[in-house]
Amino acid sequence: MSFPVYLKNGDQVKVNDHVYCSPSWDTRDGTPYSVARIMQFLPPADAPKGEEGKNYLYTRVRLAWYYRPSDVSDRPVADSRLLLAAIYSEVCDINQLRAKCHVVHRDKISDLSGWKKRPDRFYFNRLFDPYIKKEFEVIPSQNVRNLPDSIRDVLISRYEYVVAEKEVIPDLTDHVRLCDSCQGWCPSPDTVQCDRCKRYFHMRCVQPPLMAKPSRGYGWTCAPCSRKHEQEVDSHEIRHPTPVPPKPKSNLPAPRGRGRPRKDRSLAEKQENLPVKHFNLWPFRYFG
Ligand SMILES: [Zn+2]
Ligand SMILES: [Zn+2]
Repeated sequence: MSFPVYLKNGDQVKVNDHVYCSPSWDTRDGTPYSVARIMQFLPPADAPKGEEGKNYLYTRVRLAWYYRPSDVSDRPVADSRLLLAAIYSEVCDINQLRAKCHVVHRDKISDLSGWKKRPDRFYFNRLFDPYIKKEFEVIPSQNVRNLPDSIRDVLISRYEYVVAEKEVIPDLTDHVRLCDSCQGWCPSPDTVQCDRCKRYFHMRCVQPPLMAKPSRGYGWTCAPCSRKHEQEVDSHEIRHPTPVPPKPKSNLPAPRGRGRPRKDRSLAEKQENLPVKHFNLWPFRYFG
């Protein structure tokens, strides 16, 4: 990073700046400029490695691409300033960089229409994974609250954004959920919530421990609430009690919830491994 890098139009660029990028006009056949973030400047591919190579001028650049919505789906998008982030990079010739532009997350823009009135301003709030051809939500890591403080601090110090499926976002951004029995953090896959008192418990912390989440449509109540409910039934306070889920017989295999437990487990593992896993040069951390 020792040499300042200038584009042909005079713009000085540095790592993490956003740029328009395209091959020369005849090769690119009229397609619009691509937008990318500069991840690193690189010497020629045949430059010697190590100290000696440091005297070579940068001729290449590693770019993190953004997609335009029309690149990834047929869904019409009227907003030409909306991009999709991606965890996808390529090394390009530095001469393909045309000019600087600006790309920020939607949540960092207080006045979106003002932002869009200025030239060369783009924004994103979703990420496209080109390997599995799927879109994810991108939220500032600050917004993730349902994590133990230690993990949350590391997450925020390392990553600007968290990438997750839409269905996971409400769990991630809820206030931190602690087990009412052991006071430990309750990651969603290992957690049941009492239907009546709304408190959370680890599935292993209730008696008897739950082997699987209750099937969809069946509520679960904690022991104190169940006792209270039974007393109410006994005293005829409730004439039409809601059905309680059938208890699994001890030597039968535990019923499996319908809620994709295998995937949930891998989510828990990822969350637990959070402090040691990270991607170099990327602001995004996949969740789930
Ligand atoms: Zn617990
Ligand atoms: Zn309860």
